[in-house]
Amino acid sequence: MKDSFGRKIEYLRLSVTDLCNYRCIYCMDEEGVEKKRHSDILSIEELTEIAEAAYSLGIRKIRLTGGEPLVRKGLITLCRNIRGISDDIELGITTNGSLLPNMAIDLKNAGVDRLNISLDTLNPKNFRIITRTGDQHQVIDGINAAIDAGFDNIKINTVLLGGINDSEVFDFIRLTEKIPVQVRFIELMPLGVVKNWDKNRFITVDLIEKYLRSAAVLKVDGVAKVYRLPNHRGTIGLIAPISNRFCASCNKIRITADGNLKSCLHSNSEISLRGLHGEDLINTIRQGILKKPLRHRLNEDCSATSRNMNEIGG
Ligand code: SAM
Ligand code: SF4
Repeated sequence: MKDSFGRKIEYLRLSVTDLCNYRCIYCMDEEGVEKKRHSDILSIEELTEIAEAAYSLGIRKIRLTGGEPLVRKGLITLCRNIRGISDDIELGITTNGSLLPNMAIDLKNAGVDRLNISLDTLNPKNFRIITRTGDQHQVIDGINAAIDAGFDNIKINTVLLGGINDSEVFDFIRLTEKIPVQVRFIELMPLGVVKNWDKNRFITVDLIEKYLRSAAVLKVDGVAKVYRLPNHRGTIGLIAPISNRFCASCNKIRITADGNLKSCLHSNSEISLRGLHGEDLINTIRQGILKKPLRHRLNEDCSATSRNMNEIGG
């Protein structure tokens, strides 16, 4: 369906948990998050019902996110359920990759089409600084497990953090020479724990274009401008939510793990879907889509959302 500004809304980001095995410095507090009661987060049945309702309203792309979606019990069942709704749904997952070595094949068999794997640094020391708890080798093994399981179109999400990983841009570009993945450089967004960070931490992706002089622009893929360097197997995508606001073509809605619909990542406005079924659920999602704001105000100010990113799902 279309929102009130004529944008066709086809993409749902569905958060299946706010918990995570990492504690990335730009996503959550060092102490992590307090575990919610089981009944406070959407059950696998509720998540499936929401996916069905969204499908009936024209959603054709669903991305499971979190927190870390792979720590959620019942994730494989949920993927199977969503695949069971229709083959017409593009089903993706955004993950930190650490649990893929044991799960990539099951996810593939459950009908997942695409994986976006977050990896902000190729340097083990920086990896520990950024994730606080993570082991980089698990993520590299996870990427390889995903390739071996038959996932193509793998995207590596790399958030740029000034003074931490911005000197690694060229290393990431070189990675695409050997591995057939798309490395997507993403601008850091000032929300949650990042709200009061020093402005030097915020790097705009246009700085990367200087490394891409010999690259051809292949296409604009959703929110990413995609480049390929000569003889490279993979590609490079630039995503600029801040320096190049893409609200005019935004086709997304989000649902948090505790069951609130957010029609804009940066708005504090949410609609609860808890306890709704059938037509009531469909109508409430429809209302949420119709209330989607025209644009965010990140460039003028901070994000208006009071949530951390692990609660929203990116
Ligand atoms: N745990 C999974 C992961 O890391 O991929 C999925 C959830 S995570 C919240 C989704 C994406 O949001 C990740 O790629 C992460 O790097 C990104 N992210 C988190 N906080 C961000 C921020 N303040 N600005 C930009 N991206 C952010
Ligand atoms: Fe966890 Fe992903 Fe947030 Fe890192 S970015 S703390 S991996 S949810």
